Amino acid sequence: MRKLSLSLVLAIIGLSATVAYAQTKSTFVTIGTGGITGVYYPTGGAIAKMVNRTKKGHNIRAVIESTGGSVFNIDAIVAGNIEFGIVQSDRQFQAMHGLAEWKDRGPQTTLRAVFSIHPEAVTLVAASDSGIKSIHDLKGKHINIGNPGSGQRQNAIDTLTAAGIDYEIDLKTESFRAIKASGMLQDYKIDAFFYTVGHPSGAIKEATSSARKVVIADITNVDTLLDKFPYYTHATIPIKLYPGAENEKDIQTIGVKATLVTSSKVADEVVYALTRAVFENFDDFKKLHPAYSSLTKENMLEGLSAPVHPGAMRYFKEAGLK
Ligand code: GLU
Repeated sequence: MRKLSLSLVLAIIGLSATVAYAQTKSTFVTIGTGGITGVYYPTGGAIAKMVNRTKKGHNIRAVIESTGGSVFNIDAIVAGNIEFGIVQSDRQFQAMHGLAEWKDRGPQTTLRAVFSIHPEAVTLVAASDSGIKSIHDLKGKHINIGNPGSGQRQNAIDTLTAAGIDYEIDLKTESFRAIKASGMLQDYKIDAFFYTVGHPSGAIKEATSSARKVVIADITNVDTLLDKFPYYTHATIPIKLYPGAENEKDIQTIGVKATLVTSSKVADEVVYALTRAVFENFDDFKKLHPAYSSLTKENMLEGLSAPVHPGAMRYFKEAGLK
């Protein structure tokens, strides 16, 4: 008898738990970002905020994850470990075409574009006492080119190569995450570091407001890159964003775009709901970070090389953007 009533109680508990679960069942999606001092992390937060604010209409809840960056995010999406990720436009192109880190694995055919976000500049921060003023001064120096999961690593290799510098022979390199780079520079462990990032960013603010003085070096006379690769453009970093840097003029460099990607395996209604949440709340979204100052709904459809996910396309058509 005692045994019977116990199983009955357990059954009732189980049943009510199932009912409660069915009533509140949400679809959780994870957005892969970057280091917390970059712009991807707050950008993931801004997208998640728009999704979660409109949850009543779609029952999707977005969470963000700090990651090693673009390459990590693409691989995690393709593996089905996360649903969305922020990645550089050049890395989206390379993954689609089986280039760079994907050379041996071939084209990543399940990758899908959602929309693009802020511009990112290939940023080379150097200690003033190292004498580095441009990419052409890096021979013999000690440089952090970035962790293997990052977007900046290949940008560092590309720009160094275009400047006639062999990164495996002509300089000493480190492979640390951007979040560690400023501290390493301050500790005199490196002379400079690369970070492909939107501006202003916490990482570059930190690097330009510490005891060891720094300059943001120019990356110019690398035109072969612009001719060779469709995804690089000229970019300028306004020095007023970093008053602590010892630059006299705005910095000339090259840039790419931050883009949001997903997988063909993520359901249309999920991608539709996320896209709609951001675009229908565009003015609020744009206020969430100063790096979004040049964003328009129209330019958020540029810089995408993977096929646009059908869920995003449905929204763009409905909104008259496509
Ligand atoms: N562009 C960097 C990367 O792909 C991340 C920049 C950021 O976190 O804002 O790894």
